[in-house]
Amino acid sequence: MRVAVGGYLAVANSFATQRTGLQQFQRSKLSGDELLDRMGRGDSAIGGFLRGAQERGWEVVPLHYFFPGLAGKNTDEGHRWAKETLVNSIRQASPLDGIFLQLHGTSASDSIPDCDGDLLRAIRQVIGERVPLIVSLDGHANVSQLMARQATMLIGVKTNPHYDFYQVGYQAARVMGGVLEGSLELKTAWAQPALVAPLQKLYVAPGWPMDHLMRLARNRTAANSRIIDISILGGFFVSDRFETGPSVVVTTHKEANLAREIAEELKLACWARRREFLTDMVSAAEAVREAMTTDEYPVILGDLADSGGAGTPGDGTAILAELLKQNARGAVIGNIADPAAVQEAIGAGIGKQVNLTVGGKVDRFHGEPVAITGRVRTIHDGVYTASTRFNSGTYHRGPTVVVDCGGIEVILTSRPCLVFEPNHFRSLGIEPSERRILVCKAELQHRAGMASVGRTFIDVDTPGLATQELSRLPFKEIRRPVFPLDDI
Ligand SMILES: [Zn+2]
Repeated sequence: MRVAVGGYLAVANSFATQRTGLQQFQRSKLSGDELLDRMGRGDSAIGGFLRGAQERGWEVVPLHYFFPGLAGKNTDEGHRWAKETLVNSIRQASPLDGIFLQLHGTSASDSIPDCDGDLLRAIRQVIGERVPLIVSLDGHANVSQLMARQATMLIGVKTNPHYDFYQVGYQAARVMGGVLEGSLELKTAWAQPALVAPLQKLYVAPGWPMDHLMRLARNRTAANSRIIDISILGGFFVSDRFETGPSVVVTTHKEANLAREIAEELKLACWARRREFLTDMVSAAEAVREAMTTDEYPVILGDLADSGGAGTPGDGTAILAELLKQNARGAVIGNIADPAAVQEAIGAGIGKQVNLTVGGKVDRFHGEPVAITGRVRTIHDGVYTASTRFNSGTYHRGPTVVVDCGGIEVILTSRPCLVFEPNHFRSLGIEPSERRILVCKAELQHRAGMASVGRTFIDVDTPGLATQELSRLPFKEIRRPVFPLDDI
């Protein structure tokens, strides 16, 4: 059997002012043996699929893999180039017995809100109806009807933060094997409640709504051998398309009605829990006050609206301003992305006093620039390796400094980054368990990532283009009415 693999992981914050352009797509492209080597070694969905393919003795044809980064929408030019490059490689590799594609499921360009569906349709036009096209999805995917129609099977991760990509890819190979040898005949169904959920509430952990839903899905799968997979995708509200929000995708062997029934049941189960998905945050002033007075510390303050996982500039200053105002000694600002301030601090040198104006510079949505005065304590290349099994790997924050402002430590990075786990701090000589307050920029990854350190977690209502207060965002594409934007 001759099976092709590829990936397209563009993640778009439709509200952000930056764009992901052609150059970022071109720079991120992995092809040929390099794709197979890199993915074969890692814990990605492609890695899992490759293992399954190897066990079955398939000939694997590498297509291309794009990971242009996380920012605003793609330019049309960037998306079109990536799509055509992938489609052309499929044309050249044809005839193929099957295709496995890893998608994030949240890509949008200036004029195409559903780049994932657009890509799958273009691939389907080339391969025809009969070649199985199996697609793995990130747990944040906004699954569109177009995607569901074009793919033979969509299969999502079941964890959040996500650590089961490899298993999902491996399962995809097993299903592909069944289809190719004729023992499986896939029937799928897609359903979606009139709901859009804040990222904050998609945590899959005991007591959280997604955990209940995932358990229900697991129980249904275990109870009937004809159900191959049930995926509940949480959605990514900052990527604005018609179908933004949670969705359910069910794949069965031969049973179209069963797939539809289960999808409908889980859609209603999501809807019934809709109020559990309402956001839950406190003001910066209140959060800092509570963090300063509680005995249960370290306190982890989440700057969700400027999460390093949601395509915002990473230079939001609202919590820093409040920490300075309340003189919150023992606090660490996980990061402000501000390359100019970093260079100024490096220019001054270790031990030197600096007056800097940091953050709030990329757009007008993430707070005002804040003046700080402090001593440059650390200068670092910004590279560190995460300690967690999710969002694992090596991070490149660019040149990074720590400025000690009279007991409030400010980490300045050159690039936006997810701030979610202890090695981010330890790599810079800050032992997080010895601090009172640690400010993370993440949506929920910090809850799992900082679990070994934090004793109190408070999510702060900061301004920003990933605000969890959805009514503040200028949605244009999403279907209406939808809860909680509409009171239904
Ligand atoms: Zn995700």
